[in-house]
Amino acid sequence: MNFSISDHLLKGDNIRQQLTDKHSGEFASGLPDTIIMHYTAGSSLSGAVSHLSKPSVQASAHLVVDRDGSIVQLVEFNKKAWHAGRSQYQDRKGLNQYSIGIEMVNAGPLNPSGDGFISAFGKHYPADAAVQATHRNEQQPRYWQAYTEAQINCVSDICEALRDHYQIASILGHEEIAPLRKKDPGPAFPLDSMRQQLLENRGEDGADEIIESGIAGVVTASMLNFRDAPSTSGKLIHEPLTQGTQVDILQEQNGWYQVRLKETGWVSKKYIDTARA
Ligand SMILES: [Zn+2]
Repeated sequence: MNFSISDHLLKGDNIRQQLTDKHSGEFASGLPDTIIMHYTAGSSLSGAVSHLSKPSVQASAHLVVDRDGSIVQLVEFNKKAWHAGRSQYQDRKGLNQYSIGIEMVNAGPLNPSGDGFISAFGKHYPADAAVQATHRNEQQPRYWQAYTEAQINCVSDICEALRDHYQIASILGHEEIAPLRKKDPGPAFPLDSMRQQLLENRGEDGADEIIESGIAGVVTASMLNFRDAPSTSGKLIHEPLTQGTQVDILQEQNGWYQVRLKETGWVSKKYIDTARA
């Protein structure tokens, strides 16, 4: 999908503008610089749009993205919408004054029911509607409604257009700025990979990316086996590393880091401290 922005409105296919005056005026200069991702905790675009447009509801968002990728814009991008609520990230509070809010039509958590699932608002879903995953703010896995590929691709392309137009520096989840109150967009949404792709890989050429970033680590175990595969059955290919050895971390896999010394091999990540390097 190809999106552009003109007069603080999103332009492209399948976009409808239905502007509301539920906003707090224009951003300060240099803002917005952040995008906040949300789910609607509902099942339809029309339901979300009508809720967010009601004068009696103290909430709004810039965009709502349906499961097929169709979009409604409710607030112009130069105006502060009401999607973040009480929120904090690093030294900023009240993220509405810094950010564009994108709502995605998604039910959020689902509970098993019969052959399928049921949402918090009582709608039934088939067995293939859910993914099982552990939320970044929780300990145990549970079920979440899957996002569609159309929705994820569409949102990624929107974020790319916003990034280029407004110099967006952060893409965050509501769950990260209000972790005690909010679960959206939840673990079914590929937030970490999307922001890595849109914000960290910018202007560089992909495959060698992680290697070139050279995340450093230090061995914390007195002796650490160095293997040719990310498993305790991997062949030992080097003298064990000793405590304090510095390594470059190339990638992570199933609890192992691939690291670079003079040779490349695999070590258990439990014994690598990335903070001390
Ligand atoms: Zn939210």
